[in-house]
Amino acid sequence: MTDRESDETIADASRRESKESESVEKVCADCGTLLDSTEWLPTRTSFDDENVVVYLFCDEDCRDAWQSE
Ligand SMILES: [Zn+2]
Repeated sequence: MTDRESDETIADASRRESKESESVEKVCADCGTLLDSTEWLPTRTSFDDENVVVYLFCDEDCRDAWQSE
């Protein structure tokens, strides 16, 4: 049973890793400020055809401003 558990763990980890590197841009989507991704940041998720795009914002003011466009 140990083999089966480790397979699931590896598949899950690689899926999560590739998704992050493709879709997360570490600048504010509204004002373009470079962000510190170690801190909590407001996000918005958008679906563009088959791609999931995650937008980050430096604060909730920027997120709200971006939504209104
Ligand atoms: Zn901003």
